[in-house]
Amino acid sequence: MTAIRLAVAGRQVVVFERNDELGGKLTSRSRDGFTFDTGPSLLTLPTLIDDVFRLAGTSLENEVTLQRLDPSFRYFWPDASTVTFRDQPIATAEALESWSPGSGSEYLALLARARTIWHVSNRTFFAGDMSSPFSLLRRMQSPRDFLRIDAFRTLQSRGEKTFGDTRLRQWLGRYATYSGSDPARAPATLACIAAVEADFGSWYVRGGLGALRDAMVRVAQRAGVELRLGTEVTKIDATPRRVTGLRLADEEVVAPVVVVNADAEHMYRDLLPHWRRLGAVERTERSTSGIAVLVGVEGRTPMIGHHNVWFSRDYRREFADIRAGRVPTEPTIYGCVSSVTDASQAPANCENWFLLINTPADSTIDARQHGPWLLERLAAIGPDLRRRARFAEVIGPHDIAMRYRSPGGAIYGTSSNGRNAAFRRPAMRGPRKGLYLVGGATHPGGGLPLVTMSARMVSDLILRGYRER
Ligand SMILES: Cc1cc2nc3c(=O)[nH]c(=O)nc-3n(C[C@H](O)[C@H](O)[C@H](O)COP(=O)(O)OP(=O)(O)OC[C@H]3O[C@@H](n4cnc5c(N)ncnc54)[C@H](O)[C@@H]3O)c2cc1C
Repeated sequence: MTAIRLAVAGRQVVVFERNDELGGKLTSRSRDGFTFDTGPSLLTLPTLIDDVFRLAGTSLENEVTLQRLDPSFRYFWPDASTVTFRDQPIATAEALESWSPGSGSEYLALLARARTIWHVSNRTFFAGDMSSPFSLLRRMQSPRDFLRIDAFRTLQSRGEKTFGDTRLRQWLGRYATYSGSDPARAPATLACIAAVEADFGSWYVRGGLGALRDAMVRVAQRAGVELRLGTEVTKIDATPRRVTGLRLADEEVVAPVVVVNADAEHMYRDLLPHWRRLGAVERTERSTSGIAVLVGVEGRTPMIGHHNVWFSRDYRREFADIRAGRVPTEPTIYGCVSSVTDASQAPANCENWFLLINTPADSTIDARQHGPWLLERLAAIGPDLRRRARFAEVIGPHDIAMRYRSPGGAIYGTSSNGRNAAFRRPAMRGPRKGLYLVGGATHPGGGLPLVTMSARMVSDLILRGYRER
C-alpha cells in the first residue's frame, strides 16, 4: 500500500520480498480443491484499501467482488448456548434481547460508547504518526478526549461494567485478540472494533482474501512499482546521519529512502543493528501467535456460519496460560468456513475449515502435536470434524516466524497490553534520516485496516520530507 501511494506520487519504487509471493501474512493455501485463507479471513473497513486504489485510478469494486456478510458471526459457549450477530446493529440487538433479556439495550449502549471511541481515535490516534505522546496530544481537542477513548479501563472491565450476562463480557473481550492482546490488560479503547464491525460491516472477498492480495499486486504493477520476489534484504546501509540503500545476497542497492515492512525486532537486530531501539522492542510484550489447522471436510455442518467462535469457559485462564508461555489448555477456537458463502472454496458438498487458537509468540511450540488435539477440543464443544476430514494441515508459531521473519511467530508485532502500549510501539521514523517502518510492527498496529492506515501515514511523512528538501 505504501509502494502504491509513493509510485502514484511519482517516486521510483522497488519492493523486495523474501518469499516467492507478495502479500506477507495476507495469503492463502490451496489443496485438493479446497482453498484456505491462512492469514486474514475477515476484512473490515475496505474503504481504506479503496482509497489507495482510487489514488491509482481504479477502485476496490473494479478489482474484486466484495460481499458484506449477514450474519456476520456465530458465537458458541461451552454451555451449548449460541447467538448470531447480524449485519445491522438493531437486528443484532433484537437477537440478543430474545436470547438474554436486557442485553439488547446493553449492546446498543456499548455501541454508542464504541462509536465515540472510533470518532475520537480517527482524528487523533489514527490521524498521523506517534513520534512522541505530544503528537497525540496536539490532535486532542480537549483533555476530555482521553476519557472518551476509554483508555483508563481494560476491555474486560468495560465488559463487566456494561453487560449483566458474562457471555457478552467474553464476546467484548474477544476484540483484544484482534491485536493479539489480553482482554484483561488491553485498553477498553479496543471496543471501537465492535462499532466498526456493526456499522461498517464484516466483509468477504469472493474467491478468498487471496484475491485481495492479487488485486493489490496488480494495482502496484500498474502504478509502476517494481516487484522483486524471492529477494531477501540482508542489511540496510546508512551513514551515521542517513540511510543510503540496502544489501541483497549479491547486490547493493542505492536508495535515498528505505521503508521497512518487516518486524522491528528483525530490523534492529539484523538489518540495521541498533541496540537502544532493539532493547526497547525486546522490553515490549509481543502480540500472541497462533496455531491454525486447515481441514478439508466432507459433507455439510449444521448451525455454522462463515465466521464462528467457540469460546473457552474463561478468557482469564486462557490468557494466564499464554502469559505463562503455555498453549492454553482450554482455548477459544475461531473457525472460518468461507465455503458457506463461496462454493468455489471447496469441492461439491465439502467445507474448508480454518481453525485458529491464540498461543504465546514462541517458535519452539510444537504445533504439529497440537493439530489432532485441537480437533478433539472442537469436538468436545462443537462439531466433530474428525471422521469427515480428508486432511488436516497445521501451521504454528514456528512457521509464521520462519516465513515472515516475525520473532516468535508474533502475528501483530507488539501487543496492546497495558495503558502505554500504544506509545511503546516501535516508531515509524527510523534512527536515520530516510528510514521508516510501516505495517503491523509499528504505529498504529496490526490487522489489515491498521496496516493500511500505517501506509498512509508513512507515505505522508516521506512525501512531506521530499518537499522539505
Ligand atoms: C493467522 C492470521 C490470521 C489473521 N487474521 C486477520 C483478520 O482476520 N483480519 C485482519 O485484518 N488481519 C488479520 N491478520 C493480521 C494481518 O494479516 C497482518 O496484521 C497484516 O497482514 C500484516 O501486514 P504487514 O505488511 O505489516 O506484515 P507482513 O504481512 O508480515 O509483511 C511483511 C513482509 O516482509 C517480508 N520480509 C521480512 N523480512 C524481510 C527481509 N529481510 N527481506 C525481504 N522481505 C522480508 C515478509 O516475508 C513479509 O512478506 C491475521 C494474521 C494471521 C497470521
